[in-house]
Formats: sequence, structure tokens, C-alpha cells
Amino acid sequence: MSLLEHSAQTRTFIDRYFPQTTIDQWNDWKWQIRHQIKTAAELSRFITLTENEKTALARADKFSFAINPYTVSLLENDPAGAIRRTLVAVEEEWMNTEGESEDPLGEDPHRPVKAIVHRYPDRVLFLATGFCAVYCRYCTRSRLVGDAAQYKSEMKAWQDGFDYIRKNPEIRDVLITGGDPLTLSDEKLDFILKEIRSIPHVEFIRIGTKVPFALPQRITPELCAVLKKYHPLYLSVHVIHPREVTTESRQACERLADAGLPLGSQTVLLKGINDNVEVLKKLMHELLKVRVKPYYLFHCDPVAGSGHLRTSVQKGLEMIEGLRGHTTGYAVPHYALDMAGSGGKAALVPESVVGEEQRATQDGHGSQRFLKIRNFRGETHLYPDGFDEL
Ligand SMILES: *Cc1c(COP(=O)(O)O)cnc(C)c1O
Repeated sequence: MSLLEHSAQTRTFIDRYFPQTTIDQWNDWKWQIRHQIKTAAELSRFITLTENEKTALARADKFSFAINPYTVSLLENDPAGAIRRTLVAVEEEWMNTEGESEDPLGEDPHRPVKAIVHRYPDRVLFLATGFCAVYCRYCTRSRLVGDAAQYKSEMKAWQDGFDYIRKNPEIRDVLITGGDPLTLSDEKLDFILKEIRSIPHVEFIRIGTKVPFALPQRITPELCAVLKKYHPLYLSVHVIHPREVTTESRQACERLADAGLPLGSQTVLLKGINDNVEVLKKLMHELLKVRVKPYYLFHCDPVAGSGHLRTSVQKGLEMIEGLRGHTTGYAVPHYALDMAGSGGKAALVPESVVGEEQRATQDGHGSQRFLKIRNFRGETHLYPDGFDEL
């Protein structure tokens, strides 16, 4: 295993909190997982918890909580810190607001077998595992993740999933997700990719993961060697805040890009965390620098207990307004929300066509339609429309 370089901040953190740990151990992703922090008492060693957080962490009836030591090193000591609010439970998680649901995308009725979610005609999700490197408090699939009982019989679930894809030739795109597929061993991932790649009608395979940003030690040369056997293979990486782009996660992204994997980001818009144009712009710029193309900015799904993290849709439109035209086009993700069941994703775009007017042509015999287009400066320009008739 070639070692990841680490930042001075990581070094200080290891010296202070894990003085007996060698750099080789720290860089071993299995060590990181074995040392996951799961209780308020353990977490209190690193940050001063509020009474609210302590109470929330002591209640075991909500969804999973676990943070690996690397990610703990990113937590702010301030309860309003961005990374801290995405990962540490608070009591507001027990408050359900109108329209929220345990299964906000209505996936469960669209699971013909346990491992498959089939909500679009030509593509499916393949749920490979329920395990994650960390558990995001706004997780759409919080009802399924972190529960060991969910992935006891994974081989049987995978086989049923492969069979389903084989029997349905309209499936040309498979998105391997979970849980986080990159928490599986190299051998298991190799097996899943080999089986899916062997299905002739599957053209496109993607993996959805937060591992490059939440467990960068996992992105070993050995893993990259497995992944690059199955091109075209794309990676959708979950990332929320520019503070997640570190010395370590940069190297993880660079290794994946060097292995030929096109990288696209998925960011969830979160209140008080990244609902700010400057924060998002910085994040998108950092991503481009490590060869990740911003793909989606998702409106936060109305999952039960997420009210304290969800913004209005208007706020998301303002974020796109603040990016489009104000920075590199490549840095602007699609803003989308996802509706339950067959509803699916809908792109949300600020209005550009704000009106039209007919003008008499120069020869006086006809008229030409001009559209009123609003640009990134907020000015309206007239634009001559074309004709669809031949
Ligand atoms: C989001 C999603 C996909 C992938 O959608 P793209 O727009 O192609 O990225 C596929 N299946 C399901 C069920 C999804 O929720």
C-alpha cells in the first residue's frame, strides 16, 4: 500500500489523540473503520458536546451514528460547524414536519428485489451494502443504512439483483450505491463489477460514494486497479463543504482520476452549512482542481427529522443564480429535487426567458419574434428567435 500524505493538521491530531498509532495504521482504511467513534462518551474526547448533542447521541432509536477518526479530525469544536452539523446527531432529528417521510423518494415500493431500486425505465440503483464510512444526518436512505441485519445475506441479495438486471434488457445504466459500496473489500467490489459488466445490455456503470471525502485512505492503488478493469466506470462522489477537500481527499480524487474514472460530484444543499454562494463557489472550484466535475446540487430530501437542515427551493435557485455566469460553466452543477416514486428528479433553473415581442421586419412585410433574455448581470437583452418550420 503506498501511503497517503497527510496534512500538518492531521499529524497534530494523531499526535494528540492517537499517540500510540503509527502512520501506517492511520493510513489503513480498515484501522479507520475498526476505530469508528459511536458514542457521546468517545466523541467527547475530541470535541465539547452540547447537552442537545449528548441527549441525541444517547437515544438509540433513531438512525445510525458513526464517525471514523480521520473524519473526526475535520469536526469543528463549534456546534454550528459545517462538518459537525452534517455528522453529529441533534435532538431536532426527532421532530417530524409535514410532508416528511422515512422513505422520502418512495423507493421501497419500487424494489422488485432487495438490492434493486427501479424508478426510471432505463436505469436502476444497485444497493450493494448498508455500511458507510460516516452516517450523514440528512441521509435519504437512513431507514436502510447502518443496520447490520440489513446486509447479513448480501450474496443472496446481490445474486437476485444481477438476475433482475439480466432479465430486464431495458436497463442500460446501473448505479451501484448503498450504503457506500467503496466500504466493501476489493474482492467483493471486483465480483459485483464483474457480474454487472458481464451483462451485455448494461452500457454504463456508476458508483455512488462519499469515501474519497470521508475515508480517503480507502482509495488505494489496489482498489484503483480493480476499478479500472471495468471501464466505462464513472464515480459520483458525495461532498458537502470545501473543508472536506483536504490533503488526503485530494490525493484520493487524483488517484481515481488517474485510473481513468470520470468523477462527478453530488452535493446536498443544507441550511447553515452550504446554503451560501461563496461557500458553494469555493467547493465547486476546489472540486474542479481535483478533476471532479460538479454534477448535482440536490435539494435536501424531506426525510423524517431533516427540517432543521432543509432550506426553501427559492434558496437553491438563488445559489444557482449566484454561480451561473459568475464562474466557469464547468463549476455549475444541476440543481434538482427528487419526487417520490415514479416522480423522479426535476431540474430547477432560474428563469432566463422573461418575455417576448414581435417586431416588424425592415422590409415592412413580416415580423420577427425577439425573446427577452435575462443574463447573469440581471439585465434583459433582446434575442432574435429562430423558426422551427422547414
Ligand atoms: C437519481 C437516481 C438515478 C440516477 O439519475 P441520473 O439523473 O441519471 O443521475 C437512477 N435511479 C434512481 C432510482 C435515482 O434516484
